[in-house]
Amino acid sequence: MPNSSDQTPPASSAEETIAAIATPPGPGGIGVIRISGPLSLQIFQKLFLPRHQTKPQDYENRRMYYGWIVDPESGSPVDEVLAVFMRAPNTYTREDVVEIQCHGSYLVLQEILSKITASGARLAQPGEFTKRAFLNGRLDLTQAEAVVELIEAKTDEARSMAVGQLQGRLYEKISSIQEKLVAMRAIIEVAIDFPEDETDILDPAALKQQLKDEVKDPLIELIARADEGKIFREGISAVILGRPNVGKSSLLNTLLEEDRALVTPVPGTTRDTIEEFVNIKGMPVRIVDTAGIRHTTETVEEMGIQRARAKLADAELVLFMLDATAPLAVDDQALYNSVRQNSKKQKVLLVLNKIDIAPGASPEQYSAGLGGEPLVSISAKEHTGISELKDTVFSLIAGSRKGPGWDPGDAVVPNVRHKDALKKGLEACRRVEKGLETALSPDLLAIDLQSALGYLGDIVGETTAEDVLDMIFERFCIGK
Ligand code: GDP
Repeated sequence: MPNSSDQTPPASSAEETIAAIATPPGPGGIGVIRISGPLSLQIFQKLFLPRHQTKPQDYENRRMYYGWIVDPESGSPVDEVLAVFMRAPNTYTREDVVEIQCHGSYLVLQEILSKITASGARLAQPGEFTKRAFLNGRLDLTQAEAVVELIEAKTDEARSMAVGQLQGRLYEKISSIQEKLVAMRAIIEVAIDFPEDETDILDPAALKQQLKDEVKDPLIELIARADEGKIFREGISAVILGRPNVGKSSLLNTLLEEDRALVTPVPGTTRDTIEEFVNIKGMPVRIVDTAGIRHTTETVEEMGIQRARAKLADAELVLFMLDATAPLAVDDQALYNSVRQNSKKQKVLLVLNKIDIAPGASPEQYSAGLGGEPLVSISAKEHTGISELKDTVFSLIAGSRKGPGWDPGDAVVPNVRHKDALKKGLEACRRVEKGLETALSPDLLAIDLQSALGYLGDIVGETTAEDVLDMIFERFCIGK
C-alpha cells in the first residue's frame, strides 16, 4: 500500500521548495499557506517571530507555534499567525512542509506568499503538492486522482466514491489483478525456459480458466462500474424545454428549492441560459433552463431550440414540458420533432405540468402524440409529482447501468481514464486467451500478458506517461 505514512524517506525528493495559498480566494476566518521542499523550515524561520523565543534548531516537528509573520528586513508585522513545521517523510508530500494559518484576507495571504517566494521558494503549480506526494510514493495515481474528485464532488455519493478511492480501494483491486497476471507470466516464463517440458508446465485449458476467473471477469466488472460511477462523479446534463408558460422556470425553481447540488458557480456560464446543478438521488444533474433565453415575439423554432441547440446537443436528457391545462398543441409537436431531429439517442421525459388545475388530463393523449415517450404528471407550483419525476429521471439515466444494491460508498469505481486502460488490458487478455486456444508460443503469450500488465500499471501510475500525469495534475487547484 503506498499510502502508509511511516515509510523510508523518498529516494528523489524535489530540489525546489514550492509555496501556495491553500484556501480559496475571498475573505474567510483563516487562510492557509503551504510550503513544501528542503528550504521550508529555513524560509519560515526567516519570516517568523515566535511569541516565545525559539532557536532555529529547537523547532519541533508537528508542533503548532504562535507568533507573527514579519518583514525580514524591516521587522514590520504582516499578520498574527499559527504555524506548524512537519518534517519529511511523514507529511503530505513526504518533504519538509510548513503550514501557516493567518487571517483569511487575500491581501495578507498574498503578502505572506510574496515574502516566502522572495526568500527562496517558487509558486507551486496546480496540484504540485499532490504530484510530489505521488512521485514520492505516498499516494498511487488513483489516490491522487481521488483527491481532485473529493474536492470536486457535488453529491454525497460522489464524495463517498472519492473517499473509497483515496483509501486505496481501486489501487488494491488493480494490484490484486496485477499479482494474478504476474503469477501467470511466471508459469509462461518457466515454459519459455524449459521448452522440452512445456506441455507439463503449461496447461492451456487451466491457464485460460484462470485468466478468465482471476483477470478477465474482474476487469469486465470494473469496466461496468466505470459507467455507473461516471453519472455520480461527473453528473449528467439535462435541458428543460417547452412552449412559453408551460412552467419551465417554475420546475427548475422547484427542483432547486428541494435539492440544489452544492456547487460553486460554473465559470463561463452564459448570460443567455441559466445553468444549475440539482441533486437527483445522488446524481448531479446540470439543468439548463432555456426559458431564460425566451423572447415573447419568438417563433417556435426560435423559442429555445435555436439558441439552446448547442446545449441540447450536449444534454443526455430532455425534460420536455407540457401544459395540462391545454391540449397537445402544434407547437409542442413541432418542438418535439426538432428535438428528435437533433438527436435520436437522447432520453426524453415528458413532464405534464399544472395538474393542480387540470387533474383530469390524460397522460396518454400527450405521449401518444409525442413518440410514446415516458411521461410524469406534476405540479411545479404545488410540488406534486416531483419525487416521481426524480425517480423516473434516475431510472432513465442510471437504472439500466446500476445493479441492485449498489452502494457508491463500497464500490470500486474507475474513472474514464481507468476505463480506457482497463479495456486495453482486457483486449490484451483476450489475445492471450486466443493464443492459449491456438497453442501460440509461450514467448508471444508473454508479450500480451506483459502488455496487459502495462495497462494496469498505467492506472496506478507505475508506468504512466509524463504527459498523462501532467494532464491529471493540471485539473487540481493551486495549493493542493
Ligand atoms: P416558462 O415560461 O415555461 O418558464 O413558465 P413559468 O415557469 O414562467 O410559468 C408560467 C406561468 O405558469 C407562471 O404564472 C407560473 O406561476 C405558472 N405555473 C407554472 N407551473 C405551474 C403549476 O404547476 N400550476 C399552476 N397552477 N401554475 C403554474
